[in-house]
Amino acid sequence: MTKILDGKALSTSIMKKLKSAVAQQKRLITLAVVQVGDDPASTVYIRNKHKACEAVGIRSLHIHLDGEITSGSLLDTIHTLNSRKDVDGILVQLPLPYGIDEGEVIRAIDPAKDVDGFHPVNVGRMMLADDCLLPCTPAGIIELLKSNGIEINGKECVVVGRSNIVGKPVAQLLLQEHGTVTQCHSRTRNLAEVCRRADILVVAVGIAHLINADFVKPGAVVIDVGIHRTSDNKLCGDVDFDSVKDKVSAITPVPGGVGPMTIAMLMQNCVKAGHRGS
Ligand code: NAD
Repeated sequence: MTKILDGKALSTSIMKKLKSAVAQQKRLITLAVVQVGDDPASTVYIRNKHKACEAVGIRSLHIHLDGEITSGSLLDTIHTLNSRKDVDGILVQLPLPYGIDEGEVIRAIDPAKDVDGFHPVNVGRMMLADDCLLPCTPAGIIELLKSNGIEINGKECVVVGRSNIVGKPVAQLLLQEHGTVTQCHSRTRNLAEVCRRADILVVAVGIAHLINADFVKPGAVVIDVGIHRTSDNKLCGDVDFDSVKDKVSAITPVPGGVGPMTIAMLMQNCVKAGHRGS
């Protein structure tokens, strides 16, 4: 019987615990979300983050800047937020408009307020397994595996994708949990063959239904990070769920798998940043 790894239920229970931790805080925790321009997908993501803040009892500020803003003005906004004592977490919604250097913007955020965990200081600390603000999607994946009693120690873990925000950090966190990790990407040869080695297969590619039953070993655990909207307006992942579901021992659904865990980990990072600031 295949286990469906329910990220929504786990996220709700994590957020409940965070809510009681926040209620015991003497001061209000504040997350500032910076949006540049009017990308519709970003607007939806930001709305969901504000809703999550509301559910946990965190104040959220939406700083909505014109899409034509210069890098200099955006950096000034970040510096102001860095110096504000009432702001605990800063998140700049990506992608930024063409012409703005995302790396420069991320580097401008105070690492102690970098609740996305993208600043090089947090990335470096993560590599060293030091205390830091972890990137939300990779941290959510590890949490989902652990909470479902899925052992990582000694397992063959294959990560498909090597982005800075998902693929690379999730591979690093699996390694820290003592997995034997293989990282695949667009130039990997014989992808299906490599994926079939996996006890735990994490897919973060951005291609709908790339992974089918041919890519999975019987009994594997499959974590699908991808999110796509189909022509009939439904959500689907990088994994062809129907093709693989009867072959695997556990799999995340899309929606309701990794996505809600990302939001829960963001809230966890806000609470952590808030504790440091108090
Ligand atoms: P990205 O585009 O930055 O990286 C994609 C990676 O996939 C690259 O490293 C590339 O080398 C690899 N790749 C591309 N084609 C490939 C192929 N044919 N075979 C093997 N590897 C290939 O994407 P990302 O930011 O890591 O996001 C991946 C997916 O996850 C997207 O669908 C994105 O929307 C989704 N996502 C979901 C969440 C969430 O919370 N659920 C968070 C972040 C990203």
